[in-house]
Amino acid sequence: MKKESCIFCKIANGEIPSSTIYEDEDFRVFLDLNPATRGHALLVPKEHFDNLFELDDELCKKAMVLAKKLAGQMKEALGCDGFNLVQNNGETAGQTVFHFHLHLIPRYEGDTAGITWNQGKASPEELEELTALLKKK
Ligand code: AMP
Ligand code: ZN
Repeated sequence: MKKESCIFCKIANGEIPSSTIYEDEDFRVFLDLNPATRGHALLVPKEHFDNLFELDDELCKKAMVLAKKLAGQMKEALGCDGFNLVQNNGETAGQTVFHFHLHLIPRYEGDTAGITWNQGKASPEELEELTALLKKK
């Protein structure tokens, strides 16, 4: 399904032009207008899903296989030194466009993308408590 008010539905389905680097029946991959680094691209399903929690399982699998393929091609073409896959869900996690997308971010020595977080410290008790909470019975 498409969502009328969704800009990524419009881009993914070609109603709004984009700098497309890949397209198939399920996905469009296009360059981000506000790139973190040179070559930053967005992998977007043509169907609308708000986020990862909503995403169809088959498309989820296909998205990761496609991301792997494109990351390899982009590394080759751009000569980047590393690569981040980033995927935000919910405003708190930094999502600003509420149509599932995967960021493909080439990384270069000395770039300023700054994809990082402050490392905390988990106590043994905390690890135990969380393991019990999260591990599937
Ligand atoms: P997120 O913050 O994970 O929701 O990422 C949304 C991304 O979409 C941001 O990196 C924006 O720069 C990018 N973006 C928003 N609108 C467009 C557009 N029309 N074309 C290309 N990229 C866009
Ligand atoms: Zn959409």
